Amino acid sequence: MTLAVPPATHRVVDSHRATALSGSGTFLIGYDVESRAVDVTRAFLRRVLEIHEATGVPATFFLCGRTIEVNREELRPFAGHPLFDLQQHTYNHVLLKSVCIEDPDEGVRFFKGGTLDQIRDEVRRTTELLNAEYGIECRGLTGPYCYYRGLVDRQDILEVLWDEGIRFTRTWGRNEKDWQPVELDIQPFWYAPQGFPAMLEVPIHGWQDTSLRKTVGWTNLQGFLDGTNPTWSAPPLRVWSFRSVPTTTRAPAKTPACRSRRRSYGARRTWA
Ligand SMILES: [Zn+2]
Repeated sequence: MTLAVPPATHRVVDSHRATALSGSGTFLIGYDVESRAVDVTRAFLRRVLEIHEATGVPATFFLCGRTIEVNREELRPFAGHPLFDLQQHTYNHVLLKSVCIEDPDEGVRFFKGGTLDQIRDEVRRTTELLNAEYGIECRGLTGPYCYYRGLVDRQDILEVLWDEGIRFTRTWGRNEKDWQPVELDIQPFWYAPQGFPAMLEVPIHGWQDTSLRKTVGWTNLQGFLDGTNPTWSAPPLRVWSFRSVPTTTRAPAKTPACRSRRRSYGARRTWA
């Protein structure tokens, strides 16, 4: 699915902003699947399968381990399904980084991130679960809540994720107030300056759908639609995701921070 990308209307202010946003790109769809409530998850799974099979549009699920454990059979049809890719969202929805939201409606709210040991355990448990249950080698992760600037300032977390086999992340999903929306000119990038040139970040654009729906009212569908950026030719739902594939191509040249690591996966760029 492609979307028209409007020209940038503001100055380039940092290295992750695209300098020439125009033409078309690839619209990536992903879902965080994280609920403890079995009825909620199963209703979602039934509906999402209908929609994606009817439209032929691919998507990625980012699953919490706790959700997999209580929906093992319900998720099985998605494992190996040509339209679906299964990745992870940590085991128990532990934040990778702290978030301090400046929400104009609800004020300032702080959510504490996990420790490095917690993060490692959360990621490892979910990776092992996906592998044991469905034979999937997990390489992708959405950071719970997502963060301003993703993980560009947290080489220590990147190190943990890399060691646990993660090769692409969706962690930039908030603006400078740890709120939303995220502007469309924040485009995918590699964590090369941090020493991980083969680790890809795919930011989430616009609003996280649940945040916008809560803001305008859960039953206010028109408000939800009106809340989209009218200059975009795509809905505000998470513009994201990425279907990872192992490749035989060599990873980009490594910097000293990851030179000693043997495993390396390339990743197919699908947005160009
Ligand atoms: Zn989540």
